[in-house]
Amino acid sequence: MISKRASEFTSFIVMDVMAKVQDLERQGENIIHMEVGEPDFSTPSVIVEAAIEALRQNKTRYTHALGLLELRQAICDYYLAQYRVNITPDQVLVSTGTSPVLLFAMLAILDHGDEVIVSDPRYPCYQNFILAAGGKFRQIRTYPEDGFQYRLNDVARAISPRTKAILINSPCNPTGIVMTGEQLAEIASFNGQYIISDEIYHGLVYKGRARSILEFTDNAFVINGFSKLYAMTGWRLGYLIFPKEFSSVMQRIHQNFMISANAFIQWAGIAALTRAHDDVARMIRLYDERRRYMIGRLREMGFVIHVEPTGAFYVFADGRKFFSDSYREAFRITEEAKVGVTPGIDFGPGGEGFLRFSYAASLENIEEGLNRLELYLKKQAS
Ligand code: PMP
Repeated sequence: MISKRASEFTSFIVMDVMAKVQDLERQGENIIHMEVGEPDFSTPSVIVEAAIEALRQNKTRYTHALGLLELRQAICDYYLAQYRVNITPDQVLVSTGTSPVLLFAMLAILDHGDEVIVSDPRYPCYQNFILAAGGKFRQIRTYPEDGFQYRLNDVARAISPRTKAILINSPCNPTGIVMTGEQLAEIASFNGQYIISDEIYHGLVYKGRARSILEFTDNAFVINGFSKLYAMTGWRLGYLIFPKEFSSVMQRIHQNFMISANAFIQWAGIAALTRAHDDVARMIRLYDERRRYMIGRLREMGFVIHVEPTGAFYVFADGRKFFSDSYREAFRITEEAKVGVTPGIDFGPGGEGFLRFSYAASLENIEEGLNRLELYLKKQAS
């Protein structure tokens, strides 16, 4: 028998779209991918070389359960340089991606029945980490006209004696919207709960800069990693920054469940943080070019983009003028226009009527994909 808990885990709808895309590709169709949430760039060669060198030097054993001290120190230096915040290596846990550290953060703070506040729409995996740790998620509707930010009154109303944390994600998947310092300060002013801040898209910001929640409160868990900024999705490397009092429990959790992250990949992580600036700058220039192009074209076609997305690599476009069922529409666009897109409903009921377009694709492909979409919409209208 499958456990009740496991049967509650929801699936990632974008994976269904990707399966459809692969079916069509097997039949010889050419599909433009705008559904994927991973960089199209190769991992910068300084990072690859560092991993190869680490392998040659036999960096192939377990490391400290929290991660290599050198990498944790590099993460502290990075947060100091970027955000002027002081954290120490005993507040950092390195693991195989941000996904596992999100689970470990939930295990560390939730007792059975405790609650975590999440927004609707949001990254679709969040609720499953909460459920896996025996918690409950409390979703709060956010609205396009507010840039999908929490309304503070709604948060205040949703807080109960069981609320242990409020989850935020900026730059955001799926909206690409970056929270302002003021918005972060407001969320940080809710005391009595932890703020869990998913900062995985930090660095991928095209106007102004992203602020870290740690600039506003120490009562926070930050998750961050290498997948997006350094084009390292398949390497599996991420980290958690936590309040000092969690140091020993985090070490115990990781010792038991993972022992440690991969040694040679942690060495590559140090190269990413310290030696990949030029590669990152190049990727950012290209993402920004694609971002501006995509926003312009989608608006011309009649999609509404309520607040300009200035981070990550997504545009969350309001298509309610064209359709109401985003799931059906995403499949139709995939089948008829031959463009893969992610339905807004994947991110919760608050995302219905929207489509998420990823610009982690070449400008040439984006142009072709948007041409196909435009033609498809014109056909629908006629
Ligand atoms: N958070 C968000 C918002 C994401 O989009 C992703 C990747 N899709 C993750 C976390 C997980 O990233 P990883 O496990 O590769 O570090």
